Amino acid sequence: AGQLPRPPHTRILTVANQKGGVGKTTTAVNLAAGLALRGLGVLVIDLDPQGNASTALGIDHRAEGINSVYEMLLDEVPLRDAIQNSPNHDRLYCVPATLDLAGAEIELVSLVARENRLRNALQEETLNEYGIDYVFIDCPPSLGLLTVNAMVAAREVLIPIQCEYYALEGVGQLLRNIELVQAHLNPALHVSTVVLTMYDGRTKLADQVAEEVRRHFGEKVLSTIIPRSVKVSEAPGFGMTIIEYDPGSRGSMSYLDAARELAVRAVS
Ligand code: ADP
Ligand code: MG
Repeated sequence: AGQLPRPPHTRILTVANQKGGVGKTTTAVNLAAGLALRGLGVLVIDLDPQGNASTALGIDHRAEGINSVYEMLLDEVPLRDAIQNSPNHDRLYCVPATLDLAGAEIELVSLVARENRLRNALQEETLNEYGIDYVFIDCPPSLGLLTVNAMVAAREVLIPIQCEYYALEGVGQLLRNIELVQAHLNPALHVSTVVLTMYDGRTKLADQVAEEVRRHFGEKVLSTIIPRSVKVSEAPGFGMTIIEYDPGSRGSMSYLDAARELAVRAVS
């Protein structure tokens, strides 16, 4: 496994799709693990109160008194006091989510600079200190203030799309929200990457969906498609990504390919 090129600046990607269960978390943690395995420094910000990304990265997010993304957003706890190293990889880091993040959506409303809290918390100095090349922000399945914070903090949006019925349902609404954030809060924001997930080659439907998504998003769609595989869904139960859980599996290979594609594409 060769090393991948480091981007000239830290790339910050928001992994968003307000539909639940499309593979946001799975894609965020597996791309992160794939890039870390190939020599890059990666931070995953878990912005979903469920804490699934934290779990998959082997971080105990239920522990008493840990600093989480909640403390970063609400109490201005600095990144360096909330960042944790994943036990699975020395170049892989996570800011975990705790259940109290569920209340943040409401609590943020009355704060100053409520849309900029995450951007302000991601201090460049700390990212450099930890050698972070990539930040993935794993969004909750909604377009509320947490997701807006993610969109303000990032430059790129990565949209996972499940090769299933109604795959593009809601994507129009997501794109309109991205445009609103771009117009009012973060001019640099753009959709850079679309990842097709949970592809089942036995169904004609999956191919039709993939074709439709490619027609819609063109070059932004990675040529690597993530297959549906039970092992991918088992891995988080062991506090791992598929890349540690079963390195030779199709799921692992496809996420490694996707990570390579993401890294070698022109940094847009
Ligand atoms: P989201 O974050 O968008 O809600 P998840 O990444 O949590 O979606 O995925 C939803 C469910 O599907 C999870 O149980 C996950 O383990 C499973 N899953 C994700 N990707 C795959 C895949 N390629 N093959 C099989 N199961 C998958
Ligand atoms: Mg999720």
